[in-house]
Amino acid sequence: MTMINAFDPSAGANLSAADRTLIERRERVLGPAYRLFYAHPAHFVRGEGVWLYDDQGNPYLDVYNNVASVGHCRPEVVEAIARQASVLNTHTRYLHDGIVDFAEDFLKEFPSGLRHLMLTCTGSEANDLALRIARHYTGGTGVIVTKLAYHGVTGDLAELSPSLGSGNKIAPHVRLVDAPDQYRGTGDVAASFAASVAQAIADMKQHNIKPAALLVDTIFSSDGVFADPAGFLKPAVDEIRRAGGIFIADEVQPGFGRTGVEMWGFQRHDILPDIVTVGKPMGNGHPVAGIIVSPTVVDSFGKTSRYFNTFGGNPVSCAAAHAVLKVIKGQKLQENALTTGQYLADGLKRLATKYPLIGDVRGSGLFIGVELISDSRTKQPATAETTRLVNGLRERRVLISATGPHANVLKIRPPLVFSQENAAMFLSILDETLATI
Ligand code: PMP
Repeated sequence: MTMINAFDPSAGANLSAADRTLIERRERVLGPAYRLFYAHPAHFVRGEGVWLYDDQGNPYLDVYNNVASVGHCRPEVVEAIARQASVLNTHTRYLHDGIVDFAEDFLKEFPSGLRHLMLTCTGSEANDLALRIARHYTGGTGVIVTKLAYHGVTGDLAELSPSLGSGNKIAPHVRLVDAPDQYRGTGDVAASFAASVAQAIADMKQHNIKPAALLVDTIFSSDGVFADPAGFLKPAVDEIRRAGGIFIADEVQPGFGRTGVEMWGFQRHDILPDIVTVGKPMGNGHPVAGIIVSPTVVDSFGKTSRYFNTFGGNPVSCAAAHAVLKVIKGQKLQENALTTGQYLADGLKRLATKYPLIGDVRGSGLFIGVELISDSRTKQPATAETTRLVNGLRERRVLISATGPHANVLKIRPPLVFSQENAAMFLSILDETLATI
């Protein structure tokens, strides 16, 4: 696995004295496990819409940050947080209208089989809770994830998040399967993904491990962004259910209308998950997340274990999440993801005809992967060129990063308010930067 877009302090970047000092202070107090983005780290002091501003007042176009789903510092969300914070913020063991009002509206966005919402503070807590429920419901422990999956920071999730790095141990009850890669794979993606899941189940059985769940990010963001052909997840979901396990759709990245066609990534695949998990785009960065679960799956867990997450779903978090939902629906941001995403993908495909470095453009709505290769015959990953491109864009004040096992896939995942004008600007600066690679 290749290190993705990380600052290397020994490379002697072109830093201001003030940033050099801040980096030294940061390392002193935060220790060695953090990574900054870019050869030349960026230092932001303010955000607005699709723009982040550095300490000199320069605007940067944000083509990367999905967490600010409805735009940085979106006034409706800021006001909702401030208003509720000035009235009451407490935990969920008192009655409060806010959590119920929000849950009722939010659950309307899901198929009718998913009827309960349990709130957490982070996407990691959501996935962790989903796993606990899956294990309780199935009596199994085994989990199947993709080879470069990322599902969160808790111990249980790190054990099934191979993208965390070579020092991160994958647990014996976890099986890794190849991501459904239509560009590099051969044959039918749906059939080969399902066959890998079936093989993982067979291997678990051989080792006396009972399967609990297949857990996937429905757009496979850390594996390299795989969206098509829509429907490819269905046979794999059938496999895990046949083996007594459940299907958990991690919607932390693709959810909230980003894929354009539907509100949730799993809907492109015509499947009904047993549990859906959502993360911080839900609160535009305010820490609120959760799981949406079928009553059957959570029934016994709920009757025999108490769930209390002190500030998961507190009144301020619910006010933030409700404001985000209203902006997404009221401003038709799912529709924007579809039309702006299509415009962007068309522009990227035009650039692919000009630059052989671009091997593939894929994705859905405002979630696009652009795979860079140095040889169109062998599809040799252009890892070094991707690093230069990401850093070249940063120097031109456009924020983006890379993904995939060879860090050679541009991850295009801007706030949902990204406009056609923003997309045109990005395409033009990308064209200019590609010409220098
Ligand atoms: N799942 C996926 C697919 C994610 O991308 C992330 C966070 N980037 C998480 C889970 C964990 O969410 P959080 O950082 O809120 O704990």
